[in-house]
Amino acid sequence: KAVVYWMRMEDMRTSDNKALALASGTAQTQGLPLIVLFALTSQEYKIHGRSVRRIDFVLRNLAMLKSEFAALHIPLYIHTHSGRRRDLPEKLLKLLESWNVTQLFANMEYEVDELRRDLTVLEKGRDRTHKVKPTFVHDRCVVEPGMVANKQGKAYSVYTPWSKAWLGIIQSRPDLFDPYPDPDPNDPSIKEHELYGTLFDSPVPTSLEGFICEDAAHMNTIWPAGTKAAMSFLVRFLQTKARSSQCSMDTLPPAVEKAKPKPKAQTRETRLGAYANQRDRADLDSSSRLSPYLSAGVISARECIRHAIAFQGKRDVRYVDLKRDDGAGMWMSEVGWRDFYNHVMAAYPRVSMGRPFQEKYADVRWEVDPALFEAWKQGKTGVPIVDAAMRMLNERGWMHNRLRMITAMYLTKDLMLDWRLGEQYFMSQLIDGDLASNNGGWQWSASTGVDPQPYFRVFNPYTQSEKADPSGDLIRRFVPELKGLSGKAIHDPFSHLDKAAFKKLKYPEPIVDHKLARERVMRRYKNPGDD
Ligand code: FAD
Repeated sequence: KAVVYWMRMEDMRTSDNKALALASGTAQTQGLPLIVLFALTSQEYKIHGRSVRRIDFVLRNLAMLKSEFAALHIPLYIHTHSGRRRDLPEKLLKLLESWNVTQLFANMEYEVDELRRDLTVLEKGRDRTHKVKPTFVHDRCVVEPGMVANKQGKAYSVYTPWSKAWLGIIQSRPDLFDPYPDPDPNDPSIKEHELYGTLFDSPVPTSLEGFICEDAAHMNTIWPAGTKAAMSFLVRFLQTKARSSQCSMDTLPPAVEKAKPKPKAQTRETRLGAYANQRDRADLDSSSRLSPYLSAGVISARECIRHAIAFQGKRDVRYVDLKRDDGAGMWMSEVGWRDFYNHVMAAYPRVSMGRPFQEKYADVRWEVDPALFEAWKQGKTGVPIVDAAMRMLNERGWMHNRLRMITAMYLTKDLMLDWRLGEQYFMSQLIDGDLASNNGGWQWSASTGVDPQPYFRVFNPYTQSEKADPSGDLIRRFVPELKGLSGKAIHDPFSHLDKAAFKKLKYPEPIVDHKLARERVMRRYKNPGDD
């Protein structure tokens, strides 16, 4: 007999992991061996438009986890499923039967297909003679979906009241932040399994068919795998200063081995301390850059918040104010958006099916213009901040939140192209691609989502540029054609340079006129279905 923890691509860590803690606790009390199972499902990844970078990140994390689990004397077995995705539950149950598994533990995934898959596992498991008892638990969010409800018991669709209720729950239950116990490598009650030899020797694939990552080496340098790397990004955010004079997007976190948070009195100069005022500055590298690690669950959101609170000298979460002008509260509120979008996805499955949350905007008429879409993708729109951001996405697989908002708003409102095209393109490039947050961000920008930016508030990309990149460093770093410019010209060279000087730059003219585009979007949203 054996107990299995089924690890998913959103909970790739050995510590502070609820399903793993439950599985190892059960193995311990029942004196059974513990096996960790991971299923690589290429068809699923393709259907969900997962980027090759994200899959490569999964594989790199799996390689590290293999040895981390081995050090805990637990085998990690990777099942590569190349067939139809609907056959996966049956395949896995057969595998579990062959191992004589009695109990299966997994953290829940809230995407509609994944929920259906887990329900099939539950149903099929129940119908068989060899019974595997599956247990699915909540771990992805700080507060589990369904717990934050309004007075009528319904899910919220607006962030501010939701966040008040969310914080209320957290403050009345500081235990929500308690870490789950790590598996104990010296536990004598955990037994050897006859298959352990084979399972320990099973290989971790270095690539997956259909997901060849051409810039894998570069991604490995800027987004190293593993919990230690995640911790080093966290330490960098909590302890180091955001540079104020030059674009520091190329700095890497401190050496991974040194990364251990050491709480001490914080000044407002650390990234965390300055976050309340600087979080919208895309040129200062002012945010944590933890999203790839949080999306893959390489570190838990609980752990991040625990450290942030300690660093700001707060005794515990009861002393945090989400609106106060200090970094910890503001940062916690941003991590809250991650919970919020997961709660929305769990409560309103239509958002993971390509539908707008606000059904009244389902008939907005979008332009069909592959050339405009291509210019946006390649960062050749003639709007410097949009181009810098898109080139950054293509080069790094990541963008600052403000840049995501600017580029998404530009695609949907200035180019009037369908938000789903942008959502898919982001997903195909991002290393932190996550359905709930990506869809939430796109629908916010397109004004079709929960708590969206109202349609009549259209970002002016040039004034946004002056706010997000006042120094122009970010644009100069990613748009080398403009590296000789400064002042107003860096944000809008077409309007601020004479014709000859502009021509010399070999930089495109703006592909649309912002003022006209703004009028068009007003018409189309006011009367969806009309021209
Ligand atoms: P920090 O500012 O340090 O925030 C800490 C963490 O809080 C983040 O790592 C993230 O987990 C969470 N967070 C912060 N802001 C948000 C937000 N607005 N929504 C949800 N979670 C948030 N985030 C993803 O993780 N994956 C995506 O695929 C994704 N797509 C997006 C698409 C659009 C159009 C927009 C507008 C936003 C998207 N976001 C996405 C949210 C946000 O932009 C990123 O989480 C953030 O930029 C990551 O940088 P950071 O880790 O330095 O964030």
